[in-house]
Amino acid sequence: MSGIAQRIADIRSTLPAGTELVAVSKFHPAESIAEAYDAGQRVFGESRVQELIAKRQALSGRDGIRWHFIGHLQTNKVRALVGQADLIESIDSERLLDAVDRESLRAGTISRVLLQVHVAAEETKFGFSPDELLGFFTRRDFERLKAVHICGLMGMATNTDDWTRVADDFRLVAALRDRILTIAPDLRGFDTLSMGMSDDYPLAIAAGSTMVRVGTAIFGQRDYHKP
Ligand SMILES: *Cc1c(COP(=O)(O)O)cnc(C)c1O
Repeated sequence: MSGIAQRIADIRSTLPAGTELVAVSKFHPAESIAEAYDAGQRVFGESRVQELIAKRQALSGRDGIRWHFIGHLQTNKVRALVGQADLIESIDSERLLDAVDRESLRAGTISRVLLQVHVAAEETKFGFSPDELLGFFTRRDFERLKAVHICGLMGMATNTDDWTRVADDFRLVAALRDRILTIAPDLRGFDTLSMGMSDDYPLAIAAGSTMVRVGTAIFGQRDYHKP
């Protein structure tokens, strides 16, 4: 078994049944993705639009392969991404949500998305604040969307080895999902909680994550200097 296959098997053995493992392949070459695919991995996460499109193209012969966009999405890249990503996990503003809706309608497709919540201590992280999200669902702003399906929430914990803080962040995102479902009980298919990365996915799972995004623990360190 290759190193990648072994690491995927090890991670899978710790995940509850039904948890989706997204292999975050950003900055790793198509050959590594192919290796993961051959080990049975089907869902891959990319954080740059051009990189996702290029890899999707390069690996298009592989049945059932799916691509999640997980990076900060600029409005001017939305048109290129729509129709290419099976799930856009990182919708971080209403403006971006509306842009994805507009472009999806134009392209005649339905985009599946997650709303990114900002719960971490770092100011640099993107996302809706918990209050913005609650306001959005209380006002039922989602009803104006014509070509977007909101499938749930994505969250990142504070970048710290204070694991109590990390667990608190994850529990906050899970609690938000529950509150949203009481505010709008008629929401359909709002069930995905994408939380947890290489260093913290066990804590995310304990808090109720249904989707983990794991890069380094599968593919090794990223080399940001390579194209
Ligand atoms: C890069 C990235 C990951 C993967 O991080 P690792 O620490 O390599 O597992 C997960 N989620 C998002 C949003 C990322 O940008």
